[in-house]
Amino acid sequence: MRDFDDRRPAGGPALGERRIGAFEKGRSGPLVFLVGGVHGNEPEGLEAGRRVLARLARDDPPFRGRVVLVAGNLTALARGRRFVDLDLNRMWTETSYPPPGGAPRPGEPVEFWERRALAEVFAEECRAAEGRRIACLDLHSCSSEGAPFACMGDTIRNRRLAFALPIPVLLGLEETLDGTLLDHFYVRGHVAVAVEGGRSGLPSTVERLEDLCWFALAGMGCLETSAIPGLEERRARLTEACAGLPRVLEIRYREALEPGDRFEMGSGFRTFDRVERGRLLARKNGGECRAPEDGYLLLPLYQGQGNDGFFLGRRVRPFWLRVSAILRRLRVFKMLPLLPGVRRDPDRPRSLVVDPAVARWRTIEILHLLGYRKERPRGGLLVFSRRPD
Ligand SMILES: [Zn+2]
Repeated sequence: MRDFDDRRPAGGPALGERRIGAFEKGRSGPLVFLVGGVHGNEPEGLEAGRRVLARLARDDPPFRGRVVLVAGNLTALARGRRFVDLDLNRMWTETSYPPPGGAPRPGEPVEFWERRALAEVFAEECRAAEGRRIACLDLHSCSSEGAPFACMGDTIRNRRLAFALPIPVLLGLEETLDGTLLDHFYVRGHVAVAVEGGRSGLPSTVERLEDLCWFALAGMGCLETSAIPGLEERRARLTEACAGLPRVLEIRYREALEPGDRFEMGSGFRTFDRVERGRLLARKNGGECRAPEDGYLLLPLYQGQGNDGFFLGRRVRPFWLRVSAILRRLRVFKMLPLLPGVRRDPDRPRSLVVDPAVARWRTIEILHLLGYRKERPRGGLLVFSRRPD
């Protein structure tokens, strides 16, 4: 393991180390980032990306656009930890950080520099890809067993990529988490999907993540699905891992942890376990954490670092996704301020302010269907903003 200070070159970020490799054939097409190791104890995504690049170089299939493999938190990867000072996957709000570039500054959290250096790689690649479609597949693994799944902000363009992956798709995770890497791409109008491959340290997790990279490249149009090497085996592996699970779920609950909380997940839980309302799931600071409703348990926390104890999800019927796609195409959202308790935010044209005391109980569901995301409450009011479709 290299010492942490080795990883912070005096002259600024080492782009070559962070940009692990790329493949293109000079044919126009999208720019696709494969990002691994945003959490330093999840090296499986990088290994999966390396395998994809090696296979592309060997087979040299017909390929449109460019795929780039990028390493996330280099310092934490070198130490085998989720993060050093701050979770790099919660730092992508636009306002709170200095612009990309620049060397590490004395006394600043390690992840400030990591974020700047990573943002610089993205910016450089995106500048060169001006006018082309841009997508990010953010590769994760986790501390519990369970089937793979994808997470996305529910925009129409994200759906195209997420539904090219033969695994369950989870909506609304980004609504409960501020500043994930996906946000960095959403605000720029790009496609971004995160995938969880399974438990860290398992060879099957690397295999699944590699499979998902291939399906993502096909979903973005870089290569034909039929050109995926070992297509049937990859599809069978993912389908088998997800047998019996819903195609689409939405996050209903997050057990949030504060620094210093003592949290202990009950033993033996796996991602996608069905749990019923009232089931004892974990203990926090001596108290009980019980399921607030029936649902699917997601990402139960079995590691020391992290501020999400677990999530609960609920199945979404595909019918509602089709309805919402039609409503968005019709731009029905323009009529939303006509609903009781809903008004436009005077300062921000894409945002709505909702008074929960006045709005009908279905209002939040309607806003979700139309592509709005809930932000932090402001006073007693709820604020929703619409992502660029
Ligand atoms: Zn992760």
